[in-house]
Amino acid sequence: MPTDDTGRTLFERSRPGQRGTGELEWDIPRPGLNTLIPAGLRRKSAPRLPELSEGEVVRHFVNLSTKNHHIDKGFYPLGSCTMKYNPKVNESLARLSGFATLHPLQPSETIQGALELIWKLERDLAEISGMDAVSLQPAAGAHGELTALLVVRAYHLSRGETRKKILIPDSAHGTNPASAAIAGFECVTVKSAADGRVDVEDLKSKLSSDVAAFMITNPNTVGLFETRVEEICAACHAAGAQVYMDGANLNALVGIARPGDLGFDVMHFNLHKTFSTPHGGGGPGCGPVGVKSHLAPFLPSPRVEKRGDVYTQEKPSTSIGPVHGAFGNFLVMVRAYAYILAMGSEGMSEVGRTAVLNANYLYAKIRHTLACKYDGPYMHEFVLDGSALKKTGLHTSDFAKRLMDFGVYAPTIYFPLIVPEAMMIEPTETESRETLDRFAEIFLEVWREANETPEVVHSAPHNLPLKRVDDVRAAKELVLTHPF
Ligand SMILES: *Cc1c(COP(=O)(O)O)cnc(C)c1O
Repeated sequence: MPTDDTGRTLFERSRPGQRGTGELEWDIPRPGLNTLIPAGLRRKSAPRLPELSEGEVVRHFVNLSTKNHHIDKGFYPLGSCTMKYNPKVNESLARLSGFATLHPLQPSETIQGALELIWKLERDLAEISGMDAVSLQPAAGAHGELTALLVVRAYHLSRGETRKKILIPDSAHGTNPASAAIAGFECVTVKSAADGRVDVEDLKSKLSSDVAAFMITNPNTVGLFETRVEEICAACHAAGAQVYMDGANLNALVGIARPGDLGFDVMHFNLHKTFSTPHGGGGPGCGPVGVKSHLAPFLPSPRVEKRGDVYTQEKPSTSIGPVHGAFGNFLVMVRAYAYILAMGSEGMSEVGRTAVLNANYLYAKIRHTLACKYDGPYMHEFVLDGSALKKTGLHTSDFAKRLMDFGVYAPTIYFPLIVPEAMMIEPTETESRETLDRFAEIFLEVWREANETPEVVHSAPHNLPLKRVDDVRAAKELVLTHPF
């Protein structure tokens, strides 16, 4: 724990007259913002900025950064989120000024290298997934879902069909129904069968000429491979519906099986999951969409094409149009491309195999405590059923908060909804056996406490900067500004 008083904001610590740097002496005339900004738009008084020395500011932010859990600090088994390590070489490459200082609206002839990178990354993702064409424009997985559904609608419309329904399993990630609703579709839920996979009979009974697409996650959100996927695709296609694969769980398949070969028409990728680019924090992301050739004419524009040796930007008339400014978050693409080149095809296939091995190894070490509701084998993650905690008077949320006291992040909890008191654990392939062993030890220790001294678990966390927060009050009495 930082020992200085970093609990206070920079504004509260401000002292008049403190400066970060000395005033620079300019020996050339300086135009100054005041001559560039029209008089009516200039501020009337100086902004109220905190006044501190450079050292104080640096310490403030470094201390804050260590209060947060992050992948560079510790194990992060957040199920479905694929919190794998982000290699630092990707960061160095994304910071090269030839990439970092480009303007998105520069003429094509001045950004040939960037267009080439986009063109090549699209083709690498197509090869990895077995799809025919890829668009890198969407800024996140959920944005990829929305883009894909707009593409599906444009496809149906081009055939004179206005299909209104999207079928979605009850185990799906919440973004699936949200994306379908935002795209203007009606969502219909498909049940899960007793084995945790899609209930194919229920799916078949809901297929009709009004269904635009079935969205399915494979491996699904309980970590199981959808073994009847070919039958599912055939049934959907017979009804004229498209089959969408939520590819957020691609880490289990990469280098082993290709969604395009399994029969899917369209999918999204999460570069910030499978392809090791940084995650969350509100920063830029990338959720590319891959399609089979019949959907390719509808992908967002502009499209990068290669004409002879020249890369061009084109706007096909059938395209749904742009879903993001310029090409999307380009520097995320640079990171993912660097990752794919560094891994090579052998490395990529080790990713899938090791991700699955790590999950099953970890489960084998803790399965005698809380077991999974559905039988394995599991893929890259497993979902514990936390019901057995009830006899100790505890909930999954208590258990998760206590795990954080030991310097690891908590698993995803209460998702998917079909598992009671769910605890979803995804170690990823980038963790060593020693890290997995240490997490298993921590898990077993918290399990022992839950049974012997449940009050310790119930009042956790004890070692974090913030103790138990009142979730209900936080949601009902929102305070979004600092009182300063
Ligand atoms: C992460 C995830 C998404 C959404 O991706 P974002 O990039 O967070 O929008 C969708 N589906 C599944 C199964 C996921 O795990």
